[in-house]
Amino acid sequence: MTEPFETPRSSAPQGPRAVPFHCPYCGEENLFPRPDDVGGGWECRACLRAFAVTFLGQVRRPETAS
Ligand SMILES: [Zn+2]
Repeated sequence: MTEPFETPRSSAPQGPRAVPFHCPYCGEENLFPRPDDVGGGWECRACLRAFAVTFLGQVRRPETAS
């Protein structure tokens, strides 16, 4: 039999690029992806900074004493 379901994925990013919603420097949402030929990442059209978001790995969920 073939596997009828694809590997379940929620809304996880499909590529190596994580999607920021706010500029980490000025907090604006005026973000645009940088062209790949300049190394990827994002540029903020408000403060004119370019940056990249790097996924460093999963972390352990903190124990909640409830
Ligand atoms: Zn900015």
